[in-house]
Amino acid sequence: MESFERMIVPALLIAAGGSFLLAGILRLLHHLYRRRHLAEWSWSWFCQGIYVLAGGMACVVLPEGKFSWYSGVFLAVALGAGFCQVGWLLSGASEISGKGDHRFLSDTRWLAVILALSGAVLALPAVLAGMALPGGAATSLAWWWAIFLLLAPRALLAGPAFAVTALWMWRVQAQHHGIGRRLLGLGFLVYGLHQLQYFIIALLAFSRRPAELYGASVGFVDGLLQFVVGLGIVIWFLEEEREEVVRASQRIEHLAYHDSLTGLPNRKLFLDRLSQELAASRRRGSQLAVMFLDVDRFKVINDSLGHGFGDELLTGVARRLRQSVRQADTVGRLGGDEFVLLIADLKRSEDAQAVAEKILTGLRRPFQLHGHQIYVSASLGISLYPSDGSDAEQLLKHADTAMYGAKDDGRDTLQVYNPMMSARALERLDLESDLRRALASEEFDFYFQPVFDLERDAVDGVEALIRWHHPGRGMLPPRDFLSLAETIGMSHELDLWVLETACRRIRDLGPGAAGLRLAVNLSARAFHHPRLPRLVEQACLRTGFDPTCLELEVTENLAMQNVEVTLTALRALKQLGVRISIDDFGVGYSSLSYLRTFPIDTVKIDQSFIRSIGSGNGDKAIPRAVIVMARSLQLEVIAEGVETEEQLRFLEQEGCHRVQGFFLGRPMPWRQWESFAERTRDGLQQLVRSLAEG
Ligand code: C2E
Ligand code: CA
Ligand code: CA
Repeated sequence: MESFERMIVPALLIAAGGSFLLAGILRLLHHLYRRRHLAEWSWSWFCQGIYVLAGGMACVVLPEGKFSWYSGVFLAVALGAGFCQVGWLLSGASEISGKGDHRFLSDTRWLAVILALSGAVLALPAVLAGMALPGGAATSLAWWWAIFLLLAPRALLAGPAFAVTALWMWRVQAQHHGIGRRLLGLGFLVYGLHQLQYFIIALLAFSRRPAELYGASVGFVDGLLQFVVGLGIVIWFLEEEREEVVRASQRIEHLAYHDSLTGLPNRKLFLDRLSQELAASRRRGSQLAVMFLDVDRFKVINDSLGHGFGDELLTGVARRLRQSVRQADTVGRLGGDEFVLLIADLKRSEDAQAVAEKILTGLRRPFQLHGHQIYVSASLGISLYPSDGSDAEQLLKHADTAMYGAKDDGRDTLQVYNPMMSARALERLDLESDLRRALASEEFDFYFQPVFDLERDAVDGVEALIRWHHPGRGMLPPRDFLSLAETIGMSHELDLWVLETACRRIRDLGPGAAGLRLAVNLSARAFHHPRLPRLVEQACLRTGFDPTCLELEVTENLAMQNVEVTLTALRALKQLGVRISIDDFGVGYSSLSYLRTFPIDTVKIDQSFIRSIGSGNGDKAIPRAVIVMARSLQLEVIAEGVETEEQLRFLEQEGCHRVQGFFLGRPMPWRQWESFAERTRDGLQQLVRSLAEG
C-alpha cells in the first residue's frame, strides 16, 4: 500500500492542481470577455478538480486499503462532481457549436445538475456496503468496489463526452482557421480516449489486481493532457478575439466607404478609385469616362409609392448598372437616386457612349416590385479624361453638368459634356432661385386654349396652360420650368395655385362663361396627395366655381401604379362631380388596364398621333383605334394638337367628341377670351370658314 500511495498521490495532486489552474484561467477569461462557454468550462474543470481530490480522499488517503462510511461520503462527492463536470463540458461545447437557434442544446445547466445528482446516487451502494460491513476482509472488498465505482462509470461517460466535444470543435473549425481550435479539438479527442484507460484501471481493480504504476502514469498523462487542452483553449480564444477585431475593422471600413443600401462604393471611395485610375490612364496614355446617372422622376416614385418601394427600386437599379458594365469598371452611389460610373481604359471616346446606351437600355426593362411592373428611365451625363478635365472632382462635376443637360433634353437620354453646359448649369441655378420666389411675386399666369365640342358644334371648354412672366427672360412656357419645379419639390404648391387661380379667372369672365368646362393640368404626384379632393373642394368653394365644370388632367404615369391610393383620391373627386382626363394618352408608361380600374371620364389622344394624320402610311391607325376603344368603354375622347383642316375632318368623321389645337384657337391670355368667344358664337363651321377667308 505504501508504494501505491507514493506513486498515486503526486499524480492525483498534479491532476487536481492542473484542473483548478485551468478552471481559474477560464474564469478569468470569462470575467474579461463574458463568453458563456468559458464560464461553463471553468465550472467543468473545477468539478474535475473536486472529483480528483474527493476521489483521492475516498479511495487512497482515508481508507488505507479498507473502506468506511466516511470514505463513502467522499465517494459520493467525487462522483457527483465527476458527472457534473461532463454536464458543464457538454453545455459549453453546445454553446460554441452555434449561437441562438443553432445551439445544439438550448439550456444545459439542468444537464449538469441531473448528472451531479445521479453521480452522487451511484455512490450509494458503496456507502451502504461500507456501513454494513465493519472491519476485516469485507471492508477490503468494499474498497475495491469503491475504486471500481469511482472510475468506471465516469470513464464511460466522460470518454464519449470529450469525443463529442472534439467533433463539435472540428465542425466549427470548418468555418475558421487557426491552430487553437485544432489543438483543442485534438486535445479533447485524446483526452476522451484517455478516459477509457480509467475504465481499464477500474476493471483491474474489480479483479483485484493492483496496477500502481499504470494508475500513476495515467494520472501524469492526465495532467499533461489538461495542459494541452488549456493551452488550446487560450490560443483558440486569442485567435478568435483577433478574428473578431479584424472583422469589426473590416465592417467599419466597409461602412465608411460603401453605401449601406446598395453596397456600392460611396462618393469617397469612388473619387479615390477615380484618382487611381486617372494616374494609371496618364501612364498608359488611355482615356476614361465618368458617367453621372440620375433616375428620372425618382422623387415621384418615392413619394407616391413609398420609401420601401423607392429603396427596392434603387437596389434594383444598382444591380442593373453592375450588370451593364465590366467587372473592372466601378459603379458608385452618391446618395438619393444619383449613381456614378467609372469606365476605364477606353480606346475611343465613342465607346463611352456605347456603354452609356447599353446602361440606359438596361434600365428601360420593367422592374418587378411587389407584384407591380415599374418602368423607369434615367438621364446620363458623360465626361471624358483627358478632354473634359484632369482631376477627379472636376470630371465628376462635368459629368453632373452633362446629366442636367440630358434632363433638359427631355430625360431618358445621354449627353456628353461640353463647356457650354457649365454656363447653362449656372443659369439653371439662377432659374431655380427665381422659381422659388415666383409664386409669391405673382409671376405666373395662364393662357387659355379653347376646346370644341364637335357634336354640339360649339366651344364648350378651355384648357388652362400655365405661363411664367420671368422678370428678366420674358414669358416662359411650362417646359422651361415645370420639371425644375418638380425637382425642387414645388409641384404641390403650384398645383394648388393653378387650381384656385384658374377657377377664379373663369368665374371672373362673368355670365358669358357660364357652363364653360375648365380643364386644369395637375402634376404627376397630385393624386397622391391625401388631401387633394378636400383641397379641390375648398378651391371651388372659395372661388364659387361649379365643380361639375372642372376637369382635372393628369398624364399616364408611374404614380398611378399605386392603385389603392389613386383610386381613393379619384373616387372622392368623382363624389364632388369633378371629371378626370388622361392627358397625352398613348405615350405613357401604364397599361391600358387602368382605364377600367380608375373612374376616368376622358382620354386626350396625344398630339403626336394627331400630327401624323395626313403624313402618310398608317398615320390614321392609332387615332382611329383610340377613338373606337374609348367610345366602346363609354369614355369621352379629345384630340389635341389639331393643326389642319384635314385633321379636323378626319376626327369629325371618326366620331371624336371634342378637339383642340392651333387650327381652331391658340392658347390666349384671358383678356382675349371674350372677343374669341364672340367670333365662335355661330359654331365651328363658321369659324373654319372665317379662318379660310382670312
Ligand atoms: P398639354 O397638357 O398636353 O398641353 C397642350 C400643349 O400643347 C400646350 O403647350 C399647348 O400650347 C400646346 N398646343 C395646343 N395646341 C397645339 C397645336 O395645335 N399644335 C402644337 N404644336 N401645340 C399645341 P404648353 O402650354 O407649352 O404646355 C405644355 C405642357 O405643360 C402641357 O401639355 C402640360 O402638360 C404642362 N402644363 C401646362 N400648364 C400646366 C399647369 O398649370 N400645371 C401643370 N402641372 N402642367 C401644366
Ligand atoms: Ca393638358
Ligand atoms: Ca397633352
